[in-house]
Amino acid sequence: MNSIAAHSETQKAPRRYPVAFASAFAPDGRRRRWGIAYRCPHCHRHHFGLSWTPQVGGIRRSGCGRRIWVVISRRYPADALQPHTVNTQANEVNR
Ligand SMILES: [Zn+2]
Repeated sequence: MNSIAAHSETQKAPRRYPVAFASAFAPDGRRRRWGIAYRCPHCHRHHFGLSWTPQVGGIRRSGCGRRIWVVISRRYPADALQPHTVNTQANEVNR
């Protein structure tokens, strides 16, 4: 059911922010934060961001200072905690 939940969240994304499809990298032995890499919809370059929580999707400020809507399309390693699913649940609680 994860694929259905992810699809519905994408459709609920606010249209006022351009979507950036990101790859998320789980913390490993040397990194304590989640990393995300994405191609910027504003400047079309690649940016890299860090987060203390796996909830790296949603609205955030891009590397060039503009607002984007981050959708996690891939995560590494594949069996890591799924940031997309966690983010969906958090959003529903907050609303
Ligand atoms: Zn940019």
